[in-house]
Amino acid sequence: MKTAIYPGSFDPVTYGHLDIINRAAKLFDKVIVLVSVNPSKPNCFFTLEERLDFLRRSIKSGLSIQHCGNIEVDSSDGLLIDYFKERGADVIIKGLRAMSDFEAEFQMALVNKDLFYKAETVFLAADVASTFLSSSMVKQIAMFGGDISAFVPPSILTDIKIKLEQKRLEITGKK
Ligand code: ADP
Repeated sequence: MKTAIYPGSFDPVTYGHLDIINRAAKLFDKVIVLVSVNPSKPNCFFTLEERLDFLRRSIKSGLSIQHCGNIEVDSSDGLLIDYFKERGADVIIKGLRAMSDFEAEFQMALVNKDLFYKAETVFLAADVASTFLSSSMVKQIAMFGGDISAFVPPSILTDIKIKLEQKRLEITGKK
Protein backbone atom coordinates (compact mmCIF):
# COMPACT_ATOMS: atom_id res chain seq x y z
CA MET A 1 0.00 0.00 0.00
CA LYS A 2 1.67 3.22 -1.19
CA THR A 3 0.46 6.53 0.18
CA ALA A 4 1.25 9.87 -1.43
CA ILE A 5 0.81 13.32 0.10
CA TYR A 6 0.14 16.27 -2.21
CA PRO A 7 0.71 19.46 -0.19
CA GLY A 8 -0.12 23.02 -1.17
CA SER A 9 -2.03 26.19 -0.37
CA PHE A 10 -4.86 25.52 -2.87
CA ASP A 11 -5.95 29.17 -2.63
CA PRO A 12 -8.15 28.18 -4.47
CA VAL A 13 -7.89 24.76 -6.11
CA THR A 14 -7.65 24.93 -9.91
CA TYR A 15 -7.93 22.42 -12.76
CA GLY A 16 -4.10 22.32 -12.65
CA HIS A 17 -4.16 20.93 -9.10
CA LEU A 18 -7.04 18.59 -9.96
CA ASP A 19 -5.10 17.17 -12.89
CA ILE A 20 -2.17 16.35 -10.58
CA ILE A 21 -4.54 14.80 -7.98
CA ASN A 22 -6.24 12.73 -10.65
CA ARG A 23 -2.97 11.38 -12.04
CA ALA A 24 -1.49 10.74 -8.57
CA ALA A 25 -4.62 8.78 -7.61
CA LYS A 26 -3.92 6.41 -10.50
CA LEU A 27 -0.26 5.96 -9.50
CA PHE A 28 -0.71 5.45 -5.74
CA ASP A 29 -3.09 3.45 -3.54
CA LYS A 30 -3.98 6.50 -1.48
CA VAL A 31 -3.53 10.24 -2.08
CA ILE A 32 -3.83 12.72 0.78
CA VAL A 33 -4.33 16.27 -0.48
CA LEU A 34 -2.90 18.35 2.33
CA VAL A 35 -3.85 21.99 2.73
CA SER A 36 -0.83 23.43 4.48
CA VAL A 37 -1.14 26.31 6.86
CA ASN A 38 2.12 27.81 5.71
CA PRO A 39 3.67 30.60 7.80
CA SER A 40 5.70 31.69 4.75
CA LYS A 41 2.41 32.23 2.86
CA PRO A 42 0.33 33.89 5.61
CA ASN A 43 -1.81 35.87 3.21
CA CYS A 44 -4.10 33.25 1.77
CA PHE A 45 -7.20 34.90 0.37
CA PHE A 46 -9.59 32.06 1.21
CA THR A 47 -9.90 30.69 4.75
CA LEU A 48 -8.64 27.22 5.55
CA GLU A 49 -12.26 26.01 5.80
CA GLU A 50 -13.09 27.46 2.36
CA ARG A 51 -10.01 25.92 0.76
CA LEU A 52 -10.83 22.49 2.25
CA ASP A 53 -14.47 22.80 1.20
CA PHE A 54 -13.53 23.85 -2.38
CA LEU A 55 -11.19 20.88 -2.69
CA ARG A 56 -13.73 18.38 -1.32
CA ARG A 57 -16.50 19.69 -3.58
CA SER A 58 -14.26 19.77 -6.65
CA ILE A 59 -13.15 16.20 -6.09
CA LYS A 60 -16.67 14.99 -5.29
CA SER A 61 -18.25 16.66 -8.29
CA GLY A 62 -16.06 14.22 -10.23
CA LEU A 63 -15.52 16.52 -13.18
CA SER A 64 -11.81 15.94 -13.35
CA ILE A 65 -11.54 13.02 -10.99
CA GLN A 66 -12.67 9.69 -12.32
CA HIS A 67 -11.49 7.60 -9.37
CA CYS A 68 -11.89 9.65 -6.22
CA GLY A 69 -12.35 6.75 -3.78
CA ASN A 70 -8.69 6.78 -2.74
CA ILE A 71 -8.40 10.55 -2.25
CA GLU A 72 -8.55 12.20 1.17
CA VAL A 73 -8.44 15.93 1.93
CA ASP A 74 -6.84 17.07 5.17
CA SER A 75 -4.99 20.04 6.65
CA SER A 76 -1.95 20.56 8.81
CA ASP A 77 -0.35 23.51 10.54
CA GLY A 78 2.83 21.64 11.37
CA LEU A 79 5.89 20.51 9.45
CA LEU A 80 5.06 18.50 6.36
CA ILE A 81 7.61 15.88 7.33
CA ASP A 82 5.98 15.34 10.74
CA TYR A 83 2.61 14.80 9.03
CA PHE A 84 4.33 12.49 6.54
CA LYS A 85 5.70 10.31 9.37
CA GLU A 86 2.43 10.38 11.31
CA ARG A 87 0.50 9.08 8.29
CA GLY A 88 3.16 6.51 7.36
CA ALA A 89 3.32 8.02 3.86
CA ASP A 90 5.75 6.95 1.12
CA VAL A 91 5.87 9.86 -1.28
CA ILE A 92 5.40 13.63 -1.50
CA ILE A 93 3.87 14.76 -4.81
CA LYS A 94 4.74 18.08 -6.43
CA GLY A 95 3.48 19.51 -9.68
CA LEU A 96 5.96 21.28 -11.94
CA ARG A 97 4.69 23.91 -14.33
CA ALA A 98 8.00 25.32 -15.49
CA MET A 99 11.66 25.49 -14.61
CA SER A 100 10.72 28.37 -12.33
CA ASP A 101 8.86 25.91 -10.04
CA PHE A 102 11.79 23.53 -10.09
CA GLU A 103 14.41 25.37 -8.07
CA ALA A 104 12.33 25.89 -4.93
CA GLU A 105 10.67 22.47 -5.18
CA PHE A 106 14.02 20.72 -5.67
CA GLN A 107 15.39 22.45 -2.58
CA MET A 108 12.31 21.43 -0.57
CA ALA A 109 12.70 17.84 -1.75
CA LEU A 110 16.31 17.79 -0.55
CA VAL A 111 15.39 19.34 2.80
CA ASN A 112 12.57 16.86 3.38
CA LYS A 113 14.84 13.94 2.48
CA ASP A 114 17.44 15.28 4.89
CA LEU A 115 14.86 15.59 7.67
CA PHE A 116 13.58 12.06 7.02
CA TYR A 117 15.48 9.72 4.74
CA LYS A 118 12.34 7.83 3.69
CA ALA A 119 10.66 10.96 2.29
CA GLU A 120 10.82 10.62 -1.48
CA THR A 121 9.45 13.43 -3.64
CA VAL A 122 7.86 12.60 -6.98
CA PHE A 123 7.48 15.44 -9.50
CA LEU A 124 4.64 15.30 -11.99
CA ALA A 125 4.93 17.57 -15.01
CA ALA A 126 1.92 19.84 -15.40
CA ASP A 127 -0.45 19.10 -18.22
CA VAL A 128 0.36 21.30 -21.22
CA ALA A 129 -3.09 22.88 -20.96
CA SER A 130 -2.50 24.06 -17.39
CA THR A 131 1.17 25.00 -17.34
CA PHE A 132 0.21 28.68 -17.22
CA LEU A 133 -2.46 28.19 -14.55
CA SER A 134 -1.97 29.35 -10.97
CA SER A 135 -4.25 30.16 -8.05
CA SER A 136 -3.04 33.77 -8.04
CA MET A 137 -3.90 34.18 -11.73
CA VAL A 138 -7.42 32.86 -11.08
CA LYS A 139 -7.85 35.35 -8.21
CA GLN A 140 -6.65 38.28 -10.29
CA ILE A 141 -8.92 37.50 -13.23
CA ALA A 142 -11.97 36.87 -11.01
CA MET A 143 -11.39 40.04 -9.00
CA PHE A 144 -11.77 42.10 -12.16
CA GLY A 145 -14.88 40.23 -13.22
CA GLY A 146 -13.12 38.07 -15.81
CA ASP A 147 -14.26 34.60 -16.81
CA ILE A 148 -12.56 31.86 -14.75
CA SER A 149 -14.82 29.00 -15.82
CA ALA A 150 -11.99 27.37 -17.78
CA PHE A 151 -9.78 27.27 -14.67
CA VAL A 152 -11.95 26.03 -11.77
CA PRO A 153 -14.82 23.51 -11.61
CA PRO A 154 -18.44 24.75 -11.85
CA SER A 155 -19.20 23.45 -8.33
CA ILE A 156 -17.04 26.18 -6.73
CA LEU A 157 -17.12 28.85 -9.43
CA THR A 158 -19.90 30.99 -7.95
CA ASP A 159 -18.46 31.00 -4.41
CA ILE A 160 -15.08 32.12 -5.72
CA LYS A 161 -16.60 34.85 -7.87
CA ILE A 162 -18.77 36.22 -5.04
CA LYS A 163 -15.91 36.48 -2.54
CA LEU A 164 -13.56 38.09 -5.04
CA GLU A 165 -16.19 40.54 -6.21
CA GLN A 166 -16.72 41.58 -2.55
CA LYS A 167 -12.97 42.08 -2.22
CA ARG A 168 -12.86 44.21 -5.35
CA LEU A 169 -15.65 46.43 -4.04
CA GLU A 170 -13.81 46.79 -0.72
CA ILE A 171 -10.58 47.77 -2.49
CA THR A 172 -12.24 50.23 -4.82
CA GLY A 173 -14.20 51.73 -1.92
CA LYS A 174 -17.55 50.96 -3.53
CA LYS A 175 -18.72 49.00 -0.47
P1 ADP B 1 0.97 27.83 -6.09
O1 ADP B 1 2.29 27.14 -6.27
O2 ADP B 1 0.29 28.24 -7.37
O3 ADP B 1 0.94 28.90 -5.04
P2 ADP B 1 0.02 25.70 -4.42
O4 ADP B 1 0.87 26.02 -3.26
O5 ADP B 1 -1.41 25.45 -4.11
O6 ADP B 1 -0.04 26.78 -5.55
O7 ADP B 1 0.63 24.49 -5.22
C1 ADP B 1 0.63 23.19 -4.72
C2 ADP B 1 1.35 22.28 -5.68
O8 ADP B 1 0.63 22.23 -6.90
C3 ADP B 1 2.77 22.71 -6.05
O9 ADP B 1 3.54 21.53 -6.20
C4 ADP B 1 2.58 23.41 -7.37
O10 ADP B 1 3.75 23.38 -8.16
C5 ADP B 1 1.47 22.57 -7.98
N1 ADP B 1 0.67 23.30 -8.96
C6 ADP B 1 0.06 24.50 -8.82
N2 ADP B 1 -0.59 24.87 -9.95
C7 ADP B 1 -0.39 23.84 -10.84
C8 ADP B 1 -0.76 23.61 -12.22
N3 ADP B 1 -1.46 24.50 -12.91
N4 ADP B 1 -0.37 22.45 -12.81
C9 ADP B 1 0.37 21.57 -12.11
N5 ADP B 1 0.78 21.72 -10.84
C10 ADP B 1 0.42 22.84 -10.21
